Amino acid sequence: MVKDILVIGTGISGLTFAIKVAEENPKLSLTLISKMDINEGNTKYAQGGIAVVQNLKKDSIEKHIQDTLDAGDGACDSEVVKFVVEEANERLDELIQWGAAFDKKKEQFDLGIEGGHSEKRIVHYKDQTGKQIQEVLTAKVKSFPNVIILENHTLVDLITDHHSKSKMKRCYGAYVISQEKEEIIKICAKITVLSTGGAGSLYAYSTNPIVATGDGLGAAYRAKVQMDCLPFVQFHPTALRDKIDNNIFLITEAVRGAGAKLRNNLLEQFMLKIDPRGELAPRDIVARGIQKQIQEQDDNFVWLDGSEISKEQWKLNFPMIYKTCKSMGIFLPEDPIPVVPAAHYFCGGVKVNKNSESSLKGLYAVGECSSTGLHGANRLASNSLLEALVFAHRAAIDCIKSLYEPLPQNNFYIKIPEWKGDDYSKNIIIENVKLLREELQEIMTNYVGIFKTVDGLKRAELRINDIYLTVQILYNQNKLTNGLCELRNMVSIAYLLTKQAQEIKENKGVFYNQNYV
Ligand SMILES: Cc1cc2nc3c(=O)[nH]c(=O)nc-3n(C[C@H](O)[C@H](O)[C@H](O)COP(=O)(O)OP(=O)(O)OC[C@H]3O[C@@H](n4cnc5c(N)ncnc54)[C@H](O)[C@@H]3O)c2cc1C
Repeated sequence: MVKDILVIGTGISGLTFAIKVAEENPKLSLTLISKMDINEGNTKYAQGGIAVVQNLKKDSIEKHIQDTLDAGDGACDSEVVKFVVEEANERLDELIQWGAAFDKKKEQFDLGIEGGHSEKRIVHYKDQTGKQIQEVLTAKVKSFPNVIILENHTLVDLITDHHSKSKMKRCYGAYVISQEKEEIIKICAKITVLSTGGAGSLYAYSTNPIVATGDGLGAAYRAKVQMDCLPFVQFHPTALRDKIDNNIFLITEAVRGAGAKLRNNLLEQFMLKIDPRGELAPRDIVARGIQKQIQEQDDNFVWLDGSEISKEQWKLNFPMIYKTCKSMGIFLPEDPIPVVPAAHYFCGGVKVNKNSESSLKGLYAVGECSSTGLHGANRLASNSLLEALVFAHRAAIDCIKSLYEPLPQNNFYIKIPEWKGDDYSKNIIIENVKLLREELQEIMTNYVGIFKTVDGLKRAELRINDIYLTVQILYNQNKLTNGLCELRNMVSIAYLLTKQAQEIKENKGVFYNQNYV
């Protein structure tokens, strides 16, 4: 059975895309897959909110555009920045129509401010904006009879000419692990959409959930799809030092927006010595400031002092952080929070045009796995949910149009072979996968992290290549599991990222090579 559209990933980008298409044309058949349950992905964890110009007495479209360009450090596509900022209100209204609610003061949105923004413009729902959006979109998408949702299904590879032995230079769907059946199935589709999110798991410390292993990026790389800007990895300055259930917990920038201060182990405020904007300087500057402070002192964390924020405000505006800290024995506002920087957001990814189409016909990429030109060398806080909404909308319109273009006939898809190579009998040595994953994370953190050097990048490339060769052997000899699939993607993307990092010869945005200072 050939689907009209296969959407791989069910965060804000994949779901928004699917809802738009399903609403626009109820006759189209859509299949959505997610690696874990439908709600698990980066979207659910977004705390700060969505950047949208609201208060026209103080703010303006021009100011938001300028802030985005400044954060991107000269590397943004200014045309993209302009239309994303201009289309923001329309997309926000749509989200509200679908059921999302955002905090208000009287009749106006209660706007927050985050690093790099010159005005208050962050629309949010307490400190659980992402969770709320995810739940609203999930409920909405489930209301369409033409949408099939397959949870616990893992993308392995995109189906291309390589598999179909054709020369149309298209994408024809994907091979996918059905985790329940423990087999690899073929899902053919006229249009395939990657919305697989980021790859924070490449690093030892990441704010991303464990699903964020860059699977879409890995599959696109193997399909020879153009990718760019991978080395622009944003580190969030303030993640809670102690992991909870193996996950890192983020302390949103909005907390610093509300007045919290960063202090070293002598309880001195240090950010103002680094940048006049202090705690609210762009993320890359704050993350480097903290990392440098950590290198200069004995403790491997700094303090986030929120004592200027009242207990009532903590409970009202940041209830999840308040509760989580309490569960860790940190009583706000009196106790300072121990924080570290952690890999947070991939500004680069699958290179797409202004309608989110990739260099491979029939393949779109939306959300964090794409590289649209909006973020340049550094994403402005709260611009990524916005980017996902704007580009999912554009992709949906373009994709519906492209279904009227000449496409392969149904019998072409039927002839595409089933997945080959699943008859290996050896059992994967899970411990190997775990150790290799940790080794890769250690290399990425030490050599391809916040501070890089020319020699460090070379060393990382060699060591990553060794891991890549080992993973190839495991891949060739074993049944493909989720863990092996993820490791295969992580090592490919780590390699590409490190290669691209060596091509960048000046420091820009989040990219910082100590040899170029
Ligand atoms: C802690 C945290 C806080 C954040 N706060 C903000 C904020 O305040 N404002 C803001 O604008 N941005 C924020 N961000 C960034 C933003 O949340 C993400 O960029 C955005 O949600 C990404 O959405 P997405 O749809 O691209 O991907 P995701 O929401 O990450 O969804 C990815 C989907 O892909 C699926 N997937 C992955 N691999 C596979 C596979 N192999 N097979 C099948 N499915 C797969 C996953 O199951 C999931 O459904 C935050 C991010 C984090 C982690």
